Amino acid sequence: MTETVTPHTILYIEDDPASRSLVERTLRFSGYRVLTAVCGLEGIDLARREQPELILTDINLPDMSGREITTTLRADPRFKSTPIVALTAQVLKDQRELTFAAGITGYLTKPLDIEKLPEQVEFYLNGGQDEIDKGVLSAAQTRYTQELVARLETRVRDLEAMNQSLRRFDKMKDTFIQLTAHELRTPLTLVYGYSRLLEDNADVKSITNYDANLKMLLDGLTGSISRMQGIINEILTISRIMTNNIDLSVGPTDLGNVVLRSMRSYLSAIEQRRLAIRFDKNEFPERMQADWELLELAIRNLLSNAIKYTPDGGTITITAKVEGEIVRLSVRDTGIGIAPEMLATIFERFHTTGDVALHSTSKTAFRGGGIGLGLAVCKGIVEAHGGQVLVESPGYDPEKCPGSEFIVTLPLIARIVRKQRT
Ligand code: ADP
Repeated sequence: MTETVTPHTILYIEDDPASRSLVERTLRFSGYRVLTAVCGLEGIDLARREQPELILTDINLPDMSGREITTTLRADPRFKSTPIVALTAQVLKDQRELTFAAGITGYLTKPLDIEKLPEQVEFYLNGGQDEIDKGVLSAAQTRYTQELVARLETRVRDLEAMNQSLRRFDKMKDTFIQLTAHELRTPLTLVYGYSRLLEDNADVKSITNYDANLKMLLDGLTGSISRMQGIINEILTISRIMTNNIDLSVGPTDLGNVVLRSMRSYLSAIEQRRLAIRFDKNEFPERMQADWELLELAIRNLLSNAIKYTPDGGTITITAKVEGEIVRLSVRDTGIGIAPEMLATIFERFHTTGDVALHSTSKTAFRGGGIGLGLAVCKGIVEAHGGQVLVESPGYDPEKCPGSEFIVTLPLIARIVRKQRT
C-alpha cells in the first residue's frame, strides 16, 4: 500500500526576485510546497489564507519590515507557534536582537548557504529555535517597542500629509469640473440658439416640409445639443452640490405637477418601450415649500433610471404619502434590481454599474448606461431640502427582474441644509 504524504507548505516573503527564485527552487526541489509574496501585506494575507507550516521572511520589505510581519502574525492565535524565520542581509547584532524581540524563531543571514537551507528548514519545522539570552531579549523588546511607536507616528504623519494633498487635489478637480462646464456652456448655448434659428428659418422650413431626411438631421442636431446642455447642467449642479454651493430657491410647489413635468421629458420613451406608469396626482401634496426646479431634476433622475433599468413592457409606480410634516415619495420599478453590496454605493458620484466603455448618452435605452451622476444629483438636492433618499431592492437579477424602489422623504416646508464647506 502506498501512502501519500502531503508536503509541508512554506511561505517565503521576499521582494528581491533573484533571492526569491533561488530559495523557491531549492525548497521545491526538496519536496516542499512553496508560496511566495513580494511584500509584507501580501505575505500576511497569504499566510492567513494558506496557513503555512513555516514562514521565511526578508527584513527589509517595501511596505513593512519582516519584524512587523512577525509581530502582526504572532498576535493571531493561529500563528502563535508557527516557525517564522528571518532571511536577511542584516548582520549587525542589535538587528538580530530586535528581530527576536519581534517574536522570530530563527535568524539566517545572507549570503545563504543554499546547500544547507533544506536542513535548516527541517530544523525549524521540527520545533528547533535559535538561542538568545533572556536579558538581551528583554532589553531588545523595550527598544523594539520604541522603534514601533516611532514608526507608527511617522506613518500617521505621512498619512495625514497625504490626506491633505488628496483633499487639495479633490478641490482642484471640483474647480476644474466647474470651470470646464461653465466654459462649455456658453458656446453650447449659442450653438443651440443657432440650431433653433435654423429650424425656424422659413426657407429651411419650406424644405423640411417635403424633405424628411433633412428634418431628421435637424431634429437629431437639436436633440443632441439639448442633451449635451442637460449633461453640462447636471455636472454644474452636482459640482455645486458637492462643494456645498447649492442655493435653493424655495417657493410654493405642487409636487404632483413636478412629477408630471418630469415625466413629460420621457413620454416618447415610455411609449416606445411600452412601459406602464402608475401615478395618481391626488396623492401628492399641492402646497409644499421647495425648490421645484431642483426637485424636478431629482425626480427626473429617478424616473430616467427606472425607465433605463426596466425591460420593455415593465411598470413604474410613483406614489406619495403625506405623514405629518413630511411627504414620502416612492418610485418603484419592475426592473433588473440592485445587488445588496451596491445599495450603499450607488449614490456616490460617478458610481455606475454600467460599463463606461459602453456608455450611451441616452437616458432611456434599456441598460443604456450613464456617467453615474443621476443618483448623486438626486441625493444632493433632496438633502439640501432637509430630506433623505434611500433605496430598497431584493437583489440584482436581469432575468427575473425583482425591481427597485427609491424612497424620497421630504419635509413639506424645506429645511434648508447647508453643509460645511470643505
Ligand atoms: P447612471 O445611471 O448614470 O449609471 P446613477 O447615479 O443614476 O448613474 O445610478 C448609479 C447606478 O445605480 C446605476 O449604474 C445602476 O447600476 C444603479 N441604479 C440606479 N437606479 C436603478 C434602478 N432603478 N434599477 C436598477 N439599478 C439602478
